[in-house]
Amino acid sequence: MGNPKGFLEIARVTPERRPVQERIHDWKEVYKDFPQEQLAAQASRCMDCGIPFCNQGCPLGNIIPDWNDLVYRGNWNEAIKRLHATNNFPEFTGRVCPAPCEGSCVLGINADPVTIKQVEVSIIERAFQEGWVEASTPKVRTGKKVAVVGSGPAGLAAAAQLNLAGHWVTVFERADRVGGLLRYGIPEFKMEKSILDRRLNLLTAEGVTFRVNANVGVNVSVDELRKDFDSILLAGGSTAPRDLPIEGRNLKGIYFAMEYLPLQNKRCEGDTISDSEFITAKDKHVVIIGGGDTGADCLGTAHRQGALSVTQFELLPKPPSNRALDNPWPNWPNIFRTSSAHEEGGEREYSILTKKFNGKNGHVAELEAVHVEFADRKMNEVPGTEVVMKADLVLLAMGFLGPERKGMLDQLGVAINERGNVATDGEKRTSIPGIFAAGDMSRGQSLVVWAIREGRVAARYIDKYLMGYTDLP
Ligand SMILES: Cc1cc2nc3c(=O)[nH]c(=O)nc-3n(C[C@H](O)[C@H](O)[C@H](O)COP(=O)(O)OP(=O)(O)OC[C@H]3O[C@@H](n4cnc5c(N)ncnc54)[C@H](O)[C@@H]3O)c2cc1C
Ligand code: SF4
Repeated sequence: MGNPKGFLEIARVTPERRPVQERIHDWKEVYKDFPQEQLAAQASRCMDCGIPFCNQGCPLGNIIPDWNDLVYRGNWNEAIKRLHATNNFPEFTGRVCPAPCEGSCVLGINADPVTIKQVEVSIIERAFQEGWVEASTPKVRTGKKVAVVGSGPAGLAAAAQLNLAGHWVTVFERADRVGGLLRYGIPEFKMEKSILDRRLNLLTAEGVTFRVNANVGVNVSVDELRKDFDSILLAGGSTAPRDLPIEGRNLKGIYFAMEYLPLQNKRCEGDTISDSEFITAKDKHVVIIGGGDTGADCLGTAHRQGALSVTQFELLPKPPSNRALDNPWPNWPNIFRTSSAHEEGGEREYSILTKKFNGKNGHVAELEAVHVEFADRKMNEVPGTEVVMKADLVLLAMGFLGPERKGMLDQLGVAINERGNVATDGEKRTSIPGIFAAGDMSRGQSLVVWAIREGRVAARYIDKYLMGYTDLP
């Protein structure tokens, strides 16, 4: 702990966002660079707690106090080693993680927590600039082959770790590009895809093979995988969206978020998508149903496309601005947040239930909704609060029900748990020997940081399964 008074003398400073009027006209990342001199001061706010709750709050167990101290002392090279020891992709989490570590930082009990996420992303970006992040190929190959199905953060983390252990890894991805939701879910303005490509180039150089347009269970048979590989990891994500089967749902102009967002991400990649295929919010009144992060991603995308108005509906009540009594530190604070997309405009409606879509010439034109209240764990409509709202584009962002069963999972016959996800034990083994599962496919809809953790854990136990022992963390 370099500066014992840092937390007393220095206030928390977070990175600035580019001006709204500038950023809604482009797709570049929202945040400005954070000055490195300021970062050292921010890192010095860390108290180097005897029991660092940040470390427990982080699903990866990142050794946060160590790198805070190393950054304060200017020892960036050591800081990246410490960061990479627990996290394969800090450049992803440093950008898109909601930072549960900050929610459990001890300073947060009675002050603002340390800006851990900013320290994290600054360390990895400095490391890339300095040329410290290089492809490192394993010295010895085991001759074992592992198939990873799905190239999201879980599949990528597992591939990186298994390759490190000397196995030959092939990642199968049904989409035309690698990355899972990092590629086609998360918009450019949250993470530019050059950041993903930079890491994928390293993985390729390290010896990981990627096969795109390879839909296991459709154009790649599960038998082929079982025959050609010594072990299989299922990391196909949680891709079955929750629907809203109310009157008018079959009207045109109502889409799932994951029908809408990937098209814009593809255009940002430079792909040609005809206007008839593209879904745009331009000159439309947009209603997003679902108040979470996916909804916020739709909101930011709709504004950049030139929507006339955007309203985001959330069924649950508006969260409090400070922690409620039943939501104490170090739990994740369930508080009202304003993401960069919310700052850019749009209305947020809470405690609202969509009842019906009305159409004109087969296309959605408006929706009917009513406000609700919750009592004794029951939701009741509030009489007299009915609203009718213009809606030319409706985006359903109400979460995901689990992995798709049809195709790969049905053909393999792996057991599914009561939550609809692939059932795994503590070692990420499925019901079929040699087949493991990780990420949203086994955990259910979650976060990038959890997917990376799951991928790392699965890699460890796959290595143990193949070799009888493992040195992977
Ligand atoms: C719009 C959106 C925004 C999000 N934003 C954030 C955020 O800001 N921060 C955050 O922490 N989390 C965010 N999340 C959640 C996060 O992206 C996921 O939890 C995480 O990506 C899960 O990783 P995964 O590797 O398990 O699966 P995924 O990222 O879903 O990747 C699974 C991959 O498997 C492929 N696949 C599936 N079946 C097959 C098959 N049979 N054959 C071949 N390939 C297959 C899919 O095409 C996909 O590419 C967001 C989610 C969404 C939907
Ligand atoms: S809990 Fe906060 S103050 Fe304590 S070690 Fe972690 S980052 Fe530093």
